[in-house]
Amino acid sequence: MNVHEYQGKELLAKFGVAIPAGYPALTVEEAVAGAKQLPGPLYVVKSQIHAGGRGKGKFKELPADAKGGVRLAKSLEEVESHAKEMLGNTLVTVQTGEAGKQVNRLYVTDGVDIAKEYYLSLLVDRATGRVAFIVSTEGGMDIETVAHDTPEKIATIAIDPASGFQPHHGRSIAFALKLKGDTNKQAQVLAKQLYDAFVSLDCEMLEINPLVEDVNGNLLVLDTKMSFDSNALFRHPDVFAMRDETEEDPAEIEASKYDLAYIKLDGNIGCMVNGAGLAMATMDIIKLNGAFPANFLDVGGGATTEKVTAAFKIILSDPAVEGILVNIFGGIMKCDVIAAGIIAAAKDVNLSVPLVVRLEGTNVELGKELLNNSGLPIVAANDLGDAAKKIVAEVNKGK
Ligand code: ADP
Ligand code: MG
Repeated sequence: MNVHEYQGKELLAKFGVAIPAGYPALTVEEAVAGAKQLPGPLYVVKSQIHAGGRGKGKFKELPADAKGGVRLAKSLEEVESHAKEMLGNTLVTVQTGEAGKQVNRLYVTDGVDIAKEYYLSLLVDRATGRVAFIVSTEGGMDIETVAHDTPEKIATIAIDPASGFQPHHGRSIAFALKLKGDTNKQAQVLAKQLYDAFVSLDCEMLEINPLVEDVNGNLLVLDTKMSFDSNALFRHPDVFAMRDETEEDPAEIEASKYDLAYIKLDGNIGCMVNGAGLAMATMDIIKLNGAFPANFLDVGGGATTEKVTAAFKIILSDPAVEGILVNIFGGIMKCDVIAAGIIAAAKDVNLSVPLVVRLEGTNVELGKELLNNSGLPIVAANDLGDAAKKIVAEVNKGK
């Protein structure tokens, strides 16, 4: 689960992290009211969406030369006009894709007199199985570009979970950022605060880009991007309460209600499969046959009629779907039960696209018989390869 920048900052502030003052706003009035509580004279109005690259982003509804999603304002009037231009409009950044994201929230914060920008993030490094800091003196820009063009400017400092964060980790981080004097000391303190936040909040990723040194040598966190391990959210009701469903795909939210693992993709063949491995294999074999899956969907081991119906509805709610491939292995479940579920669901949703079904496992003959006698235009397939060929052929019919 992801949170907005202002929410991430709220969480980090509890760990003592130095963050410029700021206020979230849902309306232009709230944005101005927030700015009034700040000392001024420099304010920053920031679009809150679950994507980075906002500063360089473009609003779809505004002229091409209009400013991006992070704007400096030198007066309350400017705060107001920026807020008016941003709220309700669609911001397109390198991370949102072409569709962009509608800006429904703003964050009005203190303008900082920046001397230098740095990059700092924490993540779970799968190679070492440790929480690692990634730091760079090249802040404020796209870290992938830095990693590609000047990898020597990125340092990785991994923390052994047995020892936890030690003062020498802090010194290594501050040294890698080439900080001197008191700023160096501040970085050591900050690193410990961030590590504590990362571990105790069960983060998956915590990115600060940029971390800045202001003209007085003070380190400040100007941007945050935080994501959390969904499996640990039950331990953090305060974090879970920050979930903003408008930032998520509606079909994925619907799927999560039925405990279905669903991820929307760009193709035209809807997939209904049990087991993540089989789902991956099904997507691969569709591609091998020259077509593209419209989704990843794992209905899980105990798929009931209710679950199968919900899965069908979710797949069909995607207008790009031109055919559905059901690929189920009846291991724990019996194929006849699955077949009955598919038939009931297909009738319930008035299935309008071709449906290819491949069943294998316990009671497979009984299951196939049910499908054949259902009166529905279901194409039965014998194996995975056959199923993929058939659904691709069905979808390509008449094209
Ligand atoms: P994004 O990464 O989505 O573009 P950032 O919060 O990193 O958004 O903002 C982009 C840039 O705007 C920063 O690199 C920084 O130069 C500037 N900026 C952001 N917040 C402030 C602030 N409070 N004061 C001054 N400049 C800021
Ligand atoms: Mg940023």
